[in-house]
Order: sequence, then C-alpha cells, then structure tokens
Amino acid sequence: MRTQLFIDGKWVDGNGTMPVYDPSDGSIIAHVATAGEVECEAALDAAYRAFPIWAKTTPRFRSEILRKAFEIMVAESDQIATLISRENGKVFADAKGEVAYAAEFFRWFAEETVRVPGDFRMAPSGDKRILVTHQPIGVSLLITPWNFPAGMATRKIGPALAAGCTVILKPAGETPLTALAIVDILERAGVPKGVVNVIMPKPVGETISKMLHDPRVRNLSFTGSTEVGRVLLHEAADQVVRCSMELGGNAPVLVFEDADVSKAVEGIMIAKMRNGGSACTAANRVYVQRPIAEKLTAELTKAMAALHMGSPLEAGMNLGASVSLKERDKIAGLVDKAVSDGGKITTGGKVPDGVGAFYPATVITVERNNSILQHEIFGPVAPVVIFDTDEEGIALANGSEFGLISYVFSGELGRAIRIAEAMESGMVAINRGVISDPAAPFGGTKQSGLGREGGFAGIHEFLETKYIGVEI
Ligand code: ADP
Repeated sequence: MRTQLFIDGKWVDGNGTMPVYDPSDGSIIAHVATAGEVECEAALDAAYRAFPIWAKTTPRFRSEILRKAFEIMVAESDQIATLISRENGKVFADAKGEVAYAAEFFRWFAEETVRVPGDFRMAPSGDKRILVTHQPIGVSLLITPWNFPAGMATRKIGPALAAGCTVILKPAGETPLTALAIVDILERAGVPKGVVNVIMPKPVGETISKMLHDPRVRNLSFTGSTEVGRVLLHEAADQVVRCSMELGGNAPVLVFEDADVSKAVEGIMIAKMRNGGSACTAANRVYVQRPIAEKLTAELTKAMAALHMGSPLEAGMNLGASVSLKERDKIAGLVDKAVSDGGKITTGGKVPDGVGAFYPATVITVERNNSILQHEIFGPVAPVVIFDTDEEGIALANGSEFGLISYVFSGELGRAIRIAEAMESGMVAINRGVISDPAAPFGGTKQSGLGREGGFAGIHEFLETKYIGVEI
C-alpha cells in the first residue's frame, strides 16, 4: 500500500502524516504523508518542467501508456476495490463496479488521444484559410472527492494526460489510498517523471489558493461540493485559471402513471442505492404521479427494507458504511428534520446501535415543501412526493438550484423524451437507474457545474483551441 506523496517521479515523505480511517469500525488503516509548502512547490515545479516535454510526445505514445494503465488496473481490480471499500465504506460490489468504471476512462482516453479533430477551410470571404488546432492547456490541478476515489481520479487524469497536460492531483483526505494506488499504476504503465504528481496538502484551502495564484497553474478540474466549488471559482478568477467544475446535485426522479412500477422501482434502487447513496447523481427526490403512488411507495419500501447493511467487505452486504460519522450524522439530521416537517417514514430512519458510520436504507413520504427536498442527502434515504399533472411534475423537478441529472420513468417513449427535454439538467436517464459512461459527456447545468467529463468533450477540458489564419 502506497502512503507517500508522489512528486517528480519519486515516492517521498512530506512534512507529517495524517490517519486514514475505516469508517465501518473507526480503526486506522494507514498514515499517509501530508504536503507542506516545500512539497507543493516541488510538485508544481516538477509538473511545470515536465509539461513542454510531455506536450510534445506523440498522441500514440500517450495513448499506449494510458492503455497499459487500463490493463494493469483491470488486472488488479480486486486489490483496488478492497482498498476503496476499506477507506470509503462502500460494499465490495460497488467498489468493483467503480474500478471497472474508473479503468474505462484510461481506455476511452487512450482512444481519444489519437482522434482529436482539427479544422482547415476557406474563410467565407475567401481572403484566407482558417486553420484550427488544439493544444494542451498546461499544468492542471485536479481536486477529487471521497465518494468515487478511483473514478473521479481517472476521469480527470485520463483526459489530462491524453491531451498532453501534466497534473497535480489532490485527493480527498478521507480516501487518499486509492488515488495513490492509481498513481502507482500510472508509474508502472510508463508515465514519465513529473507528469503526474500527488499531494495531500495541509492546510488544504490556503495551499490550493496559493497554487491557483501561481501563474504556472493554468487549469483546475474540481469535483466536490458546490460550496467549495464556488470558493475555488473565486480563487481561480485572479489568474483567470480555466475551470471545470463537477459540483453538487439534487436529482429528481419523475415516475409517470404509465410507467412499469416494478421496473421503475428497480431503476430507483440503482439510482438511489449505488454507492450507498453517496453520489452526486443519486436519486434525491422521488416524484410519483398520484394513480401509482401507493403501489410504488409500497414496492420501494419493500425493496429498501430487504437490503443487508453491514461491513463493506462481508459477503452478501449491499449497503456499507457512510464515509465518516460526520457524514452519517448529517444524513440522520436531514431525516430527523424531515420528520419534524411532517414526513412519514415507511422503512429505516433510525441510527443503528454499535460502532461504524452506518445509516439504514430509508424511505420517507413527504409533502412538496419538506426541507429535505432542498438538500443533497448523499445517503440511503429516498423521499417520496406525489404529483398530479405532467406540468406540475416538471416544475417540481426543476425547482432546485442544482441541475446535474434527472430520471424519468414512463411507458411512452415520446412522453419521456418530451419530459427529458424540459428537464433543467445536464443529463437525463430514461427508464434507467444509471447512465454514467466514460463515452458520454457527464456534467451539470445551473449550480451543478461547468464543463463536461468523458465523451468527446472530456479531452477538450484540457485543450486550448488555437486559430491560425493563413494567407495563401
Ligand atoms: P465533499 O462534500 O464531497 O467532501 P468537498 O467539496 O468538501 O466535497 O471536498 C471535495 C474536495 O475538495 C476534497 O478533496 C477536499 O479536500 C477539497 N477541498 C475542500 N475544501 C477545499 C478548499 N477550500 N480548497 C481546495 N480544496 C478543498
């Protein structure tokens, strides 16, 4: 298990260490190195020096390194998944799913590296030729959260390296071990020194602010809360650092009266319970049309009550622990407030006795104005609300400052597509509980973020467009 910082192609100690906990029992898994000013400067210096060399490598060269990283990651998926389960608390099946998803970003961007399109054409006036090309932006700062410690890292490192950028990765303090394991893979895949660096700065805010004020940093890719994203956008403004932001969500699910209720419940279970609900794409508000509301609530309650909560690495478990007691208590607080606002719990809703950051699968029926509907729950709690007309459903779903993803369940595809077009979100899932795919553009509207990760758009977050006007 790697526990040191990775700077300029070497594993090094920092200015101290910090503990990493197993949230299912509170034990310490490891102590990882923290980075002070000296280490952060060394990482920045290394990334800056490596940039012109890496940017000049051939797309095929970068592609083959990423492809190799994909292959190693797949071969070692059990070990990485175990590490994810241990430091994050999610069950092993979820962790394995995450590793497969994460590795796929290396494969996808290995394929994208060699296919970046350009443009050459005559200007409409005929006075010149328009030549458009793309060049790597430069040193990129990548900041990732704890909920998908592998997926969020590869979703940024993959396109950055494909584009020819060098990176400094700052993983979440709760889950640095997975990030270090991924960097270890990249090193073995042949990434040259300085191209990928990992720091665990302490204190985080001040250090990142300082880096964003250093003219050597040209790009910031952040996944985390809208609150921190806003702070970083302010910080980045001073040097006009380019930003990609994947922020919070408050995903609505709209289930229409013509939906197949059992299939809808199946979809909601995935949308809600993948990762124990700790996903920005997690179904956060379930709106169901009145004629099927009772049936859907009963089936959802039954499915949620049937889940087995326990140690993430124990066989047969499908709900693990929250990442920390703090996160667990936040979820419990939201449910308690929802109940005092008039919500009725149909299953779960009670913090279990014993150690570990556990919270049970919970269904709660609420009125439209219940406070829980305005918060990103980030846990295994499904609030259910009844609506009547399609217009009402659309208005309720769009009544949030977030706009990451919406889920629509209907038996009529035309209706589902009309509703999807009306959703104020960057992504819409129709009759499915999960649509994240490295080959598709992931991202949000409104306060859920800026930019897209994955798909054909992903690599362009790390490329600058250059226009060359040519006299011929
Ligand atoms: P979450 O709610 O998922 O923990 P955060 O936005 O708090 O989301 O954290 C996401 C990432 O941002 C983590 O790596 C965290 O350490 C980092 N982070 C938190 N505060 C700051 C800050 N002020 N500046 C830079 N990074 C930060």
